[in-house]
Amino acid sequence: MHFDVIVCGAGSAGSTVAGRLAADTDLNILLLEAGGTDERENVQDPWLWPTNLGTDGVWNFVTEPEPQLSAAPAYYPMGRGLGGGGSINVSVWARGHRADWDSYARIADDDVWDYEHILDVYRRIEAYQGPSDARRGTSGPMWIEQLPNDNSFFEAVQDAAQSQGIPKVADLNGALMEQAAGTSVRDANIHDGRRQSPYRSFVTPVQNQKNLTVLTAAEVGRVLFEGDRAVGVRLTDGVELFADRQVVLSLGAVNTPAVLMRSGVGDREELQRLDIPLRKHLPGVGRNLHDHINVPLVWGVSDDAELPAPMQAVTGMLWNLSEPQAPAAVVYVETFPVVAPPIAAQGGVPERAVTFLTGVRLRSRGDVRLSSADPATPPLIRTGWLNDGSDIPALLDIVARVTTIADSPELGKHLSERVFPPANADQDAVIDYLRRGTQTFWHQCGTAAMGHGALAVVDSRLRVWGTTGLRIVDASILPHVPVANTMAPSVAIGMQGADFIADDLA
Ligand SMILES: Cc1cc2nc3c(=O)[nH]c(=O)nc-3n(C[C@H](O)[C@H](O)[C@H](O)COP(=O)(O)OP(=O)(O)OC[C@H]3O[C@@H](n4cnc5c(N)ncnc54)[C@H](O)[C@@H]3O)c2cc1C
Repeated sequence: MHFDVIVCGAGSAGSTVAGRLAADTDLNILLLEAGGTDERENVQDPWLWPTNLGTDGVWNFVTEPEPQLSAAPAYYPMGRGLGGGGSINVSVWARGHRADWDSYARIADDDVWDYEHILDVYRRIEAYQGPSDARRGTSGPMWIEQLPNDNSFFEAVQDAAQSQGIPKVADLNGALMEQAAGTSVRDANIHDGRRQSPYRSFVTPVQNQKNLTVLTAAEVGRVLFEGDRAVGVRLTDGVELFADRQVVLSLGAVNTPAVLMRSGVGDREELQRLDIPLRKHLPGVGRNLHDHINVPLVWGVSDDAELPAPMQAVTGMLWNLSEPQAPAAVVYVETFPVVAPPIAAQGGVPERAVTFLTGVRLRSRGDVRLSSADPATPPLIRTGWLNDGSDIPALLDIVARVTTIADSPELGKHLSERVFPPANADQDAVIDYLRRGTQTFWHQCGTAAMGHGALAVVDSRLRVWGTTGLRIVDASILPHVPVANTMAPSVAIGMQGADFIADDLA
């Protein structure tokens, strides 16, 4: 079967690019998704998100053991099914900082990625329900609202941060994305208690149009080429589908490089080792894997503390934004204990607790590689966390800052002492906790990075270097993780991809 454009992967970015192209052009679009439907209560009710973990609603990846960490494989899930990560995630809507986008524009050498351009992209995406602000869009397809913050505990968190010089900011996605630090109530893509995923926002409204076909249970094995031109895809069941104008890979930061490598696009030596015929030597494919490392810092609570219900984390804080590639932290405050499996196994986890979920951008990098050309064999994932020596001092600094806030008088009537890492832990014990007690914040990106030079995989218009007819449109193209979460940036990447394709194929 022939289409104009085949979009592989119906996640945050793939849904956006396919939905936009179907709505705005006459192009005949095929959207392929390995997983199944999003008509499930644990997708539509955003507060049920954890019940997707461990099911076939996610890719249940595990990482390679890392000697500098707990040396045990870590669970590394990613969304699977219509909507991808955008259907099973925590619904935090965080657009990325000015410094992030301006950095991407510099790396790509194209101002189409700078903050001013991206503000316009977000204005076209959002149906923002908050107070009027020139930065925000109000008539786009994605419903975005601020969560209610009517509990004195979260007020106290913000007061405590303010006492340490971190100001309260009205809008996480407004002024806070332009300044060095602040606390704010988080935005969510939730409407009347139901998840407004990128899939529901961009694809559902056009799903009955004749120019859009959506197939589930369609797992892409590899891209088909004629010379250097991508002409279609082969599914893992052997079915071949043809794209007369464009193939788009939006498979997420693990499966996009895996499918590229299986298609012969990757590091020459790696592909030779696996007997995969080389199409294009691009050694950056699968390199530069990173994420925010999630350092959960857990406090006990006072007996009479009245805490908001679990899963309603509302406060975000951002720090250290002067250098876009340097360590930075985003913190969400949860009213239940979160501890990594190796720590939980030791016991001592309190029933009631407050966790400062601290997501830190590291300098460390990992990679995605193949151990076999067979798509049934999962890729090898090395997180590389803490393999760059400068990350430990940065993490110690962030732990100290969070501790100063949590131990401040403003939170005194709510919190008792730090439980993980223990309040009396010396520096070595805290470092040990960082090595064993951290996990993914699920913001995988960077494995088909945009830019120039030997390790770049796509150019600024998301075309795979050295090929024609092939684009990558997902979080893989981010040269570095933004300061906060990655769904909103992935939707922005999807909008950009749709514009680039529409311009090229007009
Ligand atoms: C548990 C969890 C919680 C998260 N919480 C948040 C949050 O609150 N806020 C936030 O901003 N971000 C959050 N994220 C991250 C965010 O969801 C992702 O960064 C974002 O969805 C990435 O978009 P993407 O388009 O790059 O990839 P994805 O959304 O992962 O989409 C990739 C799609 O491709 C499909 N696919 C993969 N391989 C194949 C194949 N071979 N053939 C066909 N289809 C394939 C997948 O099934 C998936 O649907 C969370 C992620 C997880 C896992």
